[in-house]
Amino acid sequence: MKKRRVLSGMRPTGKTHVGHLHGILENWRDLQEKYDCFYFAADWHALTSEYKNAAVIKESLTEMIIDWLSVGLDPQRSTLFVQSWVKEHAELHLLLSMITPLGWLERNPTYKEQQEELADKDIGTYGFLGYPVLQAADILIYKGDYVPVGKDQLPHLEITREIARRFNYLYREVFPPPEALLTKVPNLRGTDGRKMSKSYDNAIFISDPADVIAAKIEQMITDPQRGYRKDPGDPDVCGLFPYHRIYTEPEVVEEIERECRRAGIGCRECKQILIKRIQEYLAPIQERRQHYLTHLGEVDEIIHEGTRRAQEVAQGTMAEVREAMGM
Ligand code: SF4
Repeated sequence: MKKRRVLSGMRPTGKTHVGHLHGILENWRDLQEKYDCFYFAADWHALTSEYKNAAVIKESLTEMIIDWLSVGLDPQRSTLFVQSWVKEHAELHLLLSMITPLGWLERNPTYKEQQEELADKDIGTYGFLGYPVLQAADILIYKGDYVPVGKDQLPHLEITREIARRFNYLYREVFPPPEALLTKVPNLRGTDGRKMSKSYDNAIFISDPADVIAAKIEQMITDPQRGYRKDPGDPDVCGLFPYHRIYTEPEVVEEIERECRRAGIGCRECKQILIKRIQEYLAPIQERRQHYLTHLGEVDEIIHEGTRRAQEVAQGTMAEVREAMGM
C-alpha cells in the first residue's frame, strides 16, 4: 500500500536548540517509520523575518540539515531538500496568491501574534502577510496528506485547506486538503525562564559542548520562590523540571519531585543530575554531527538527491495545475 505523505519545513535562521530537537525533529524522525516524509529547509520563509540579514540563512542551512541527519532523519526514507532550490514553490505561490482573499490572511491569528513577537523586526511587508500562501504552496505542491503541527499552528493549516478547496472549486480537483497530525510540544523554557529563542540568547543548542551545557544549566532559573536550600520547592513552576521529564529516568524524576517539595534536594544537586543526563543524551547526536561536519560532500549529495526527488514531484503537480487553470 502506498504510504501517505507528510510535509514539514524548518527555517534556517541559526543553530538548532533542544526545543527544536524534542518539539520537532524527534517527531519527524518517528514519522519516517510510517509515512513518506518530505522535509525541507524553508529558506524563503526565513526571509520573511530575516530579509535584512539574509546571509544568516545560507550560513545556517547546511548546519541545520546536518542536525537533522544527526538526530536520525534518514535520507533513504525521507526526502530532505531546500525550498528555494525547487522553483516550482514560487510559481505555485504566485498562482495561489491570485485566488486567496485578502481577508483570510488579515484575519489569521498567528499573523497578529507574530507581529507582536517579532516587534523588533520590520515585518509590515507583503511577503510576511502572504506567508501562509507560500506555506500552502509548499504543502500542496507535494499533495501532502498530513502536516505535523502544534495546536497553535492549526489556523495556518486551515488557510492551506481553504486555499486547496478554493482552487479545486474554481478549476478542478487537484489538491487533497491536508490534515493535521497534532503533535505534543514539550514546554521547555529558556535558561532565563522565557520562551526558548535564539533571539533571547537563552537557548541550549544541540551542538553545545559538555562544559557549555553545564554552564547554561547552572545559571538556569528554577523555582523563583525558593530562596534557600531549606525552603521547599515547587517543580510545577520550576523552569528546569520539565527537562528532567525528558532526560531523566522516570523513577529518578519521581524522587526529585517528591524530595523537592520537602526540601530534600537542593537546586544545585538537581541541576548536576540534569547536566549529566543532557550531556549523555546529546553525545551520540554530537558524534554524528562531527562525522557530517567532516564529510560535507556526503551532506551535499544528500541535499541534491532530496531536491531532485522533490523537484520531480513538484513538476508533476505544476503540470496538472497549469492544465487545470488552462494556462
Ligand atoms: S530542586 Fe530541582 S525541581 Fe526543585 S526547584 Fe530546584 S531545580 Fe527545580
